[in-house]
Amino acid sequence: MTKVPACVALFLIISGLAFAQVKSPDQFLGYKLGSRFTPHFNIVNYCRQVAEAAPEMVKLEQYGTTNEGRPLLLTYVTSPGNLARLEDIRQNNLRLAGMTSDKMAPDEKGPAIVWLSYNVHGNETSSSEAALLTLYELVNPANTKTKEWLQHTVVIIDPCINPDGRDRYVNWFNSVVGVTPNPQSFTREHAEPWPGGRSNHYYFDLNRDWAWQTQVETQQRIVKYNMWLPQVHVDYHEQLYNNPYYFAPAAEPYHEVITPWQREFQTIIGKSNAHYFDQNGWLFFTKERFDLFYPSYGDTYPLYRGGIGMTFEQGGHSRAGAAVINRDGDTLTLWDRLYHHFTTGMSTIEVSAQNATKLVQEFKKYYDKARTTPPGEFKAYIIKADEGCKIVRLQQLLNRNNIEWCKAVNASYTGINYFTGKSGTVKTDSLDIVINANQPNANLLKVLFERNSHLSDSVTYDITAWSVPFVYGLTTYGLSTYVTGVRKTTDLDKPKIKALNGENSVAWLIRWNGLNSVQFLSAILQKKVKVRYAEQPFKAGNEDFDKGTLIITRTSNQSLGASLSGIISAAAQKASIGYIAVSSSFVDKGFDFGSEKVHGMHAPKIGLLAGEGVSSLSMGEVWHFFDTQINYPINIIWANDLSKNILRELDVLILPDGNYRFLADRMLNDALKDWVSNGGRLVAIESAVGQLAAADWGIKMKKGDDDKSDKTDDKKDDYSMLRRYENRERDFIPGFNPGSIYKVELDNSHPLAFGYNDAYYTLKQDNTIYEFFKDMGWNVGVVRKDNQVAGFVGSKLKDKLKDGLLFGVQEMGQGNVIYLADDPLFRSFWENGKLLFSNAVFMVGQ
Ligand SMILES: [Zn+2]
Repeated sequence: MTKVPACVALFLIISGLAFAQVKSPDQFLGYKLGSRFTPHFNIVNYCRQVAEAAPEMVKLEQYGTTNEGRPLLLTYVTSPGNLARLEDIRQNNLRLAGMTSDKMAPDEKGPAIVWLSYNVHGNETSSSEAALLTLYELVNPANTKTKEWLQHTVVIIDPCINPDGRDRYVNWFNSVVGVTPNPQSFTREHAEPWPGGRSNHYYFDLNRDWAWQTQVETQQRIVKYNMWLPQVHVDYHEQLYNNPYYFAPAAEPYHEVITPWQREFQTIIGKSNAHYFDQNGWLFFTKERFDLFYPSYGDTYPLYRGGIGMTFEQGGHSRAGAAVINRDGDTLTLWDRLYHHFTTGMSTIEVSAQNATKLVQEFKKYYDKARTTPPGEFKAYIIKADEGCKIVRLQQLLNRNNIEWCKAVNASYTGINYFTGKSGTVKTDSLDIVINANQPNANLLKVLFERNSHLSDSVTYDITAWSVPFVYGLTTYGLSTYVTGVRKTTDLDKPKIKALNGENSVAWLIRWNGLNSVQFLSAILQKKVKVRYAEQPFKAGNEDFDKGTLIITRTSNQSLGASLSGIISAAAQKASIGYIAVSSSFVDKGFDFGSEKVHGMHAPKIGLLAGEGVSSLSMGEVWHFFDTQINYPINIIWANDLSKNILRELDVLILPDGNYRFLADRMLNDALKDWVSNGGRLVAIESAVGQLAAADWGIKMKKGDDDKSDKTDDKKDDYSMLRRYENRERDFIPGFNPGSIYKVELDNSHPLAFGYNDAYYTLKQDNTIYEFFKDMGWNVGVVRKDNQVAGFVGSKLKDKLKDGLLFGVQEMGQGNVIYLADDPLFRSFWENGKLLFSNAVFMVGQ
């Protein structure tokens, strides 16, 4: 039995009344909106058509291009009067935020900026369809209500944040659907194949990327976001199809920087949405599940930048196909889904228009307060440049987020050291940077740099720790006073190339201390340059060099002749890295370049497993790393195809987080062990480590008290076993680790930890830790005692997650197994893990 709910035509003006020149989506597309999925090129074409037909109300702008070459668009829709002065409105908006250099008083009357973002998750397709209807009804001359709203609002529509993901889903769906969609949820068209359309080209979740901007879609979008800073932002999503619609107000925890007004307006919008949903008898829920904490979402990021950021979720996504029979026996269609999204969009614009002046005034207050009384425990931060180019990567992050920073001068300050938690003196020089908290972006700055985020409730949707000094591994001090006499800049530091001796050089030395070193290595290995690395520190040409330093000698590279120095300097330029040329291979201290403590390297042939069972997010991080971060070629292999013959082609095999059934296949498991014993290097990440442990490869998972059956003290309090029904959703909290930061102590004499000091800060997202290797392996990264430094972790896990191994290397015959129990490439923003991963691939076992 199916029934179609009787819709009240809330905002929809029947197309017969439509102004001839602006075509409705139905007229333009040639089918009824919602009767099939609109491919991205037609979303683009429709937006163009509207912009051309109504140039007095609509401005269309392409702000970027995706990895697969699809355009990214914004449409600005407002009244003709507002559109004529659109640039003035934008400037005024920045003036409200204190982000312009002029000292003019801003106009506080409005209009308010309302930004609607659709289809960030590619297989949550109804929202881009809703974007087209929303755009149409804003310009449709017969719709007089929207004309009134647009006097008081500028509506910015991003019809599809993730075109590559959307088309991956839509193209697949169209290839498997028949003449009539099948609403039975168990059929093929409701089960997307790996990797699904949610993520972008490199399988990144773009709704985790707003602050970090590791993906091209986000990087290009935030340039525009910085120029506009909307007062209201809605991020459109879909959830499981049996769920009623979700809209604001959001669930706890709310981050403490979220203001009373931001909370209040969420409720105002929620009540307006509820009014329209009630008119139609549509179910919804609020205040549950979707919290406001992790800073990199499409709701929190706008909140931390002064807007009202919200997530709206329709039941649907790929499991809903084009129609699906839900739990109630009703058929949920694409039209229903898009019409609900259309309704909340209209309602949001209406309420924003009614409150435009208040929204603008509160926006100004938010920024006034940020500049004068910034939140957080510190007034300023000092970040030491430390070794390598991590400081430049941080400068890029700050610039992308419009966070003001300064160049330090030679001075001395007192502050709290993030890594020790203790107060101390820090001396600065011109390489270090200073960030003062009293700036327009004080809230985002506080959130990104807070040592420990305050959770008002411990059940959250995402990680609870992201403190930038730990993420970057940069020594940072928090100060209780502002720092004066320093120069604001946005210029990135440039590398210093020292003592270039040109053609007389015997060897070139490159420090191994960060991603840029890896980029350099990747480039020269591909140019067939023979490279060595030093196992021990040494001194040459009056400079000290650490373990892992790359050494390129002229002797081993005779075949390249005179071109060698050119190859090296070009690769160094491209990687923004310095190098030192020396005229003798005699070192002042340490081992000469001919010593066996100086290891030859060769360009590894790398395999990466993908496909069903493999986490596409984890695999995508590795792919993205090789493809876009260090430009090194790899071989992506379906996990189901792995065979002896394929292994023979590889030096390194990477198992991302995932479920590897072949480890249970005796023959293949043995073939893999043989390959390692013959010199192969197996790199296992996250759960792949646990599976190797279960398959008796040699590493052993550590059991917590909870896992042991011989518990003696559980009789202590019989009544504590009694659980209350209403608490059932919270009972898991003591054993819950949503993602927190641990200090890992490193044996940096092992190649896996080259380029690091004696500590690394890891994002721990689960409850697994491994027993120390006794004699068959190297304990390179271990957690001693309770070394949790930031974030939330359940009380039961606190006892378990200590005195164990997280990063280790097991020698097996001629080869090595490298165990990385935590993800060193997490969302590509965990900058300090990139070298660790590179060591696993390029350094260990060479
Ligand atoms: Zn979503």
